[in-house]
Amino acid sequence: MHHIDWLSARQRMVERQIAARGVRDPRVLEAMMTVERHRFVPEDVVEFAYSDQPLPIGHGQTISQPYIVALMTELLNPQPGDTVLEIGTGSGYQAAVLAGLVSQVYTIEIVEPLAEESHTRLLDLGFDNVTVRCGDGYAGWPEHAPFRRIIVTAAPPSVPKPLLEQLTVGGRLVVPVGDAFQELQVIVREESGYRVQRSIAVRFVPMVGEAQRH
Ligand code: SAH
Repeated sequence: MHHIDWLSARQRMVERQIAARGVRDPRVLEAMMTVERHRFVPEDVVEFAYSDQPLPIGHGQTISQPYIVALMTELLNPQPGDTVLEIGTGSGYQAAVLAGLVSQVYTIEIVEPLAEESHTRLLDLGFDNVTVRCGDGYAGWPEHAPFRRIIVTAAPPSVPKPLLEQLTVGGRLVVPVGDAFQELQVIVREESGYRVQRSIAVRFVPMVGEAQRH
């Protein structure tokens, strides 16, 4: 139906958009090379699956630009035994990228049809270590906490406290913080507090729900 060489398109994406911009972690590059991004975008935009941009996935939401997914994954520095929490499942693409790098991914999506679609998609594609739940990610997922890694892919005005609390000591949280303009932050939990590292300016959809009341 589509006469597109997906593998070559993916290779070009990794070389020109991701490695060329400085993402170096070989495990991240490998994951971006492995996960079939074209399975995560709607049919009407599938020809742009490997282009250098976010794409609409319905319900006013987007799948992030490939470079941003790769950068956030590298900043998260996921390790093989880790349990990861993601807030903002969207298409399920970021969760799928993480699934190959860690032992378990828990992901929360507030828009019910998106949660259902990505749950079905991830099952169909054989990602059996990703659990999708519909709900407000502000509260994290206490039943599975603490997490060694937490990644937030919608922007809260300030970092949700429950997410900080559900991080292990030594754990890392990657989150775009701010309103219209956001800064990507890496927050590392230490024995006696949190250390914040600032990364690049980014633009994400707002984290809705409880986050907007703090
Ligand atoms: N990681 C996604 C892209 C996320 S777009 C991917 O790989 O495709 C941001 C998503 O966060 C949207 O689907 C939006 O509905 C969701 N979202 C916004 N606020 C949320 C909240 N409070 N809890 C959980 N999900 C939320």
